[in-house]
Amino acid sequence: MVDLKGQYAKIKPSIDAAIQNCLDNATFIKGPQVAHFEAQLADYLGANHVVSCGNGTDALQIAMMALELKRGDEVIVPAFTYVATAEAIGLLGLTPVMVDVDPLTFNLNRQLVEAAITPKTKLVVPVHLFGQCADMEGILEVCEAHQIAVVEDAAQAIGATYRFADGTEKKAGTLGDMGTTSFFPSKNLGCYGDGGAVYTQSAELARKAKMIANHGQEKKYIHEMIGINSRLDSLQAAILIEKLPYLDEYTHARQKAANLYDAALAEVAAVEIPFRADFSTHVFHQYTLKVPAQHREGLQEYLRQRKIPSMIYYPVPLNQQKAYQHLGRVVGDLSVTQELCKQVISLPMHTEMTEAQTAYISEAITTYFS
Ligand SMILES: *Cc1c(COP(=O)(O)O)cnc(C)c1O
Repeated sequence: MVDLKGQYAKIKPSIDAAIQNCLDNATFIKGPQVAHFEAQLADYLGANHVVSCGNGTDALQIAMMALELKRGDEVIVPAFTYVATAEAIGLLGLTPVMVDVDPLTFNLNRQLVEAAITPKTKLVVPVHLFGQCADMEGILEVCEAHQIAVVEDAAQAIGATYRFADGTEKKAGTLGDMGTTSFFPSKNLGCYGDGGAVYTQSAELARKAKMIANHGQEKKYIHEMIGINSRLDSLQAAILIEKLPYLDEYTHARQKAANLYDAALAEVAAVEIPFRADFSTHVFHQYTLKVPAQHREGLQEYLRQRKIPSMIYYPVPLNQQKAYQHLGRVVGDLSVTQELCKQVISLPMHTEMTEAQTAYISEAITTYFS
């Protein structure tokens, strides 16, 4: 599905030197690389503040803690997402409100959010699934009108650009009160272990997030609030410093592969290629097709025989997971989510894809459906 070895091989000298430098200085935790990377990423995103942390799941928890949500507060999340989006909600005793998604973008939209709001709603977490932004303009308008906070789960969408109706552009994760991301190795900007970050335009939220990620302390041994221990270590920051300059190039490589898949598969009647919204670029964390539910297993087996990996993101809706089925509230019948869980299939997608690979994979899919 990904080719992390191939990607590393191309930048090996600079990565190896950055790691060696960390080893020589033995500044493994809170080394200068961490603040350097935070500033570099803030600059790339056009965000006022980036606070790094241990992983993308912690980033969501830190954001929700910084917003000082209270037990029983309702948090609107899409039912079609990775479980991490809901984990922090459960851990903090908040109430997940699981909402259906748009059948084209697979994301939340204004109408879906609006229909789920109650007086207890304090937060919406749009997930920019597979690398394309949710329709943020509508969501932001609704949330502003109801004084509801917005935390964007941008773990799959780093580098994506959202376009407002007036032409203003902003990077995914910088539109809401806070945004979160993950540097898990297979994410679009991956480190060589775990890592994550919270973004915000607010100095106060940034201060709180930083404090929470560091045991609730600003001054050593003075604990203002209950925090957690969640750090991006210096080695990972050093690696990310070297990789961030390549992010746009990596995105283009993904988009090029997606365009080749699109062109080859557009005429296959049984296959629905990814929708491209006009309000967002798509950074193709995943290239995900919709195929008829009764053909999905057969297609996957056919691909497997041809040594082509594929994955189902995600096979089970959030509300049907044992851990979440008795938690919170479900809005509507989640019919789109149910269908998507049976129809989606993600193809290999990474920065090192060759034309021969996309052609071989597309050819196999075309043949299967002919
Ligand atoms: C990967 C991911 C996360 C969590 O990131 P980790 O670094 O693995 O904790 C959260 N949300 C979404 C949508 C993700 O894809």
